[in-house]
Amino acid sequence: MVLAALYGSSLSRANTEESSLDTLTKTTIPYKDQERKCSSFPPPLKDIRFTMATYITLTQLLGFAGIFFVATIWWAFILWPITGFGITGGAHRLWAHRSYKASFAYRFVVMLVNSCANQGTIFHWARDHRTHHFHSETVADPHDAIRGFWFAHMGWLYLKKDPR
Ligand SMILES: [Zn+2]
Repeated sequence: MVLAALYGSSLSRANTEESSLDTLTKTTIPYKDQERKCSSFPPPLKDIRFTMATYITLTQLLGFAGIFFVATIWWAFILWPITGFGITGGAHRLWAHRSYKASFAYRFVVMLVNSCANQGTIFHWARDHRTHHFHSETVADPHDAIRGFWFAHMGWLYLKKDPR
């Protein structure tokens, strides 16, 4: 009661605030009905995440160079299922969906193999994936497939996120 008196409460709002709030909530367009950003190619320079784009491009070029080294190919085949589990069993099932509980030791190991997969932080992965499920194929989906094959697979990492 004292706090409400000091800082105001929902009851102390002026009429104009309430009516503007009502207007805002009633006119909010659902994500599925909102217009998408233009998926022009090449994208406008202001939309490109240059540091991330450079990093991803360089790692892909280095990966391509690796196919000329037999030891690198073997190493890639060994790491493939291990890092794959880091993503699917760790970032996806354990952290994004909380499908199961795990001990600290297990989470530590899965965190390490997920890091080897070069998918960014677990926090960002889980946040983006949960947003994807909540707003699948709408403007709020970080990798909205309606914006095209290239955007859904890699373009979303090269471009700034839609603020919605
Ligand atoms: Zn999922």
